[in-house]
Amino acid sequence: MDTKKIISKLENQREFLAKEPVISVQKRKETLKNLYKNIKEMTPQICEALKADLNKCETESYMTEIGLVLSEISYMLRHMRKLTKKKRAYSPLSNFPAKSYRVASAYGVVLIISPWNYPFLLSMEPLVDAIAAGNTVILKPSSVSANTSKVMETLIAKTFEPEHATTVLGSVDECTVLLDQDLDYIFYTGSMRVGKIVMEKAKEHFTPVTLEMGGKSPCIVDETANIPLAAKRIVFGKLLNAGQTCVAPDYVYCQESVRDRLVKEIECEIIRQYSVDPLTNKNYPKMKNEKQFNAVRELIEENKILFGGRVDENTLKIEPTILNSTFEDRAMQREIFGPVLPILTFKEIDEVVKKVNSMSKPLALYIFSKSKENQNLVLSQCQFGGGCVNDTIMHIANNHLAFGGVKQSGLGAYHGKFGFETFSHYKSVVKKSNLIDMPFRYQPFNKVKTWFIKFFLK
Ligand code: NAD
Repeated sequence: MDTKKIISKLENQREFLAKEPVISVQKRKETLKNLYKNIKEMTPQICEALKADLNKCETESYMTEIGLVLSEISYMLRHMRKLTKKKRAYSPLSNFPAKSYRVASAYGVVLIISPWNYPFLLSMEPLVDAIAAGNTVILKPSSVSANTSKVMETLIAKTFEPEHATTVLGSVDECTVLLDQDLDYIFYTGSMRVGKIVMEKAKEHFTPVTLEMGGKSPCIVDETANIPLAAKRIVFGKLLNAGQTCVAPDYVYCQESVRDRLVKEIECEIIRQYSVDPLTNKNYPKMKNEKQFNAVRELIEENKILFGGRVDENTLKIEPTILNSTFEDRAMQREIFGPVLPILTFKEIDEVVKKVNSMSKPLALYIFSKSKENQNLVLSQCQFGGGCVNDTIMHIANNHLAFGGVKQSGLGAYHGKFGFETFSHYKSVVKKSNLIDMPFRYQPFNKVKTWFIKFFLK
C-alpha cells in the first residue's frame, strides 16, 4: 500500500475524532455486537485462512483464536458500562470541600501491530479492548499470515466505518510509514528485535506503547509432581501451533530423580495426542515458512535427541523432538518457537530460582509440583510475566487475569479489564465546591496558616 494511502487512513481517523472526540458507549457496544455477529458468520473463512497460513485444524483455530476473541467481546459487552463509569476517590482534608474521581478517556488513534503465529487472536483481541475503551484503530497484521490478514481486512471493513477501525496490509515498509506518524498509542506484539524499533520510533512523539514479546519460558517439574498429568499438559502447551506460541513451555527443567519417568510419559503423550507419525497427521501444524523451519531444525543436535528429530522439508513440519540438553546447547541460546523440547535437570529447587533469574525475564513460567513450599518459592522469587501451577498456557484463557511480560518479555498487559485500562488514560479530577474557600494556601502566609498547612500535610 502506498504511503499516501496509509497516511490518508490515519488522517481520516483524526478528522473523525476532531468532530466526535468521545465515541459513545452505545456506539462502541453496537460495533462490538456487530463484530461478534460477523466473526460468527465468517468463522469458516477465518478457519480456512488459518489452515492455509499455518495448517491449523478447525478445533485448534476455534479454541486458541476465534473463541478467545468472542469471549473477549462478551466480556467487554458485559462490563463496559462499569469500566467507563467515574471511579470515586478519597478527598483528603487539604482539599476540603471537594469530590475526587478518576475517569477513563480514550487515547485516540491506536496502532496495533500483530504477528503471524496467532494472527487472528493477537490482532482482534487488542482491537476489541481498544474499541471498548473508545479509541479508533489502525491494524497492521503480519504479511506472513497473509490469508488471515486478508480475511481480517474484509471482516473489519464489514463491521466498522474506516474512520473507526481499518487495516493496513503489508510488511516492514508499511509498518515503518505508520510508525513514523504521530500516533496516540502503539500496541505491538512480536519479537524483541522489532520491539526495540517500535520503542525507538514511539519516543519521537512520546507515544505510549505496550510491547508483547516472548522469550524462553521455563517449565519446572519437581519430584512431587503428578508426572503423567504433567506430561499431558506439557505436550498440550508445547505442541499447540507446533510450538510457535509465545507462552509455550520453551524447555523443561526437572528434578533429576524424575527425569526418566517424565521423558517416557512425554513420549507416550506425544503419540497419544499426535499419533505415531505427527509428520503425516493433518491436524499437526507446520512451521510458518522455510526460514523458521530451518531456524528450528538447526537447534536439533543429533547426539542430543531422546525422541523424534525427523523433519519434512516439503510440508515444513518438524517432528515433536525431545532433547537431552544443557544450558550451553544451541537450543538454550534463544527462544525455540517450534516443537523442540530440551530437558534439563536440577538437584535442589534453589538451583532453579538462581538459574531462571540469571536469564532474560520470561513471558511465562510453569511449575508442576505438589509441594506448596516449592510452588511458593519459585512463584515468589522468580520474575516472569504470568504462568500456571500444574498446567501450561491456560492463564491466557482467563480474561479476569492480566496478560503481559516483564522487561525483555514485554511492557504492559491486556485482556479483560486490564485491556480496557491499557487503552485508556485515566484523568484524575478534583471537583471543588465554591461555597467555602479555605484561606491557608494563599499568600501572604502567617503563623496560623503555616500551622494549618503543617497540620494537613504530614
Ligand atoms: P516480528 O517482530 O517479526 O513481526 C511482528 C510485526 O512487526 C509484524 O506485523 C511485522 O510485519 C512487523 N515488522 C517486522 N519487522 C519490522 C520492522 N523492521 N519494522 C517495523 N515493523 C516490522 O514477530 P513475529 O516473528 O511475527 O513473532 C514472533 C515473536 O513474537 C516471538 O518472539 C514470540 O514470542 C513473540 N510473540 C509474543 C506474543 C505475546 O503475546 N507476548 C504473542 C505472539 C508472539
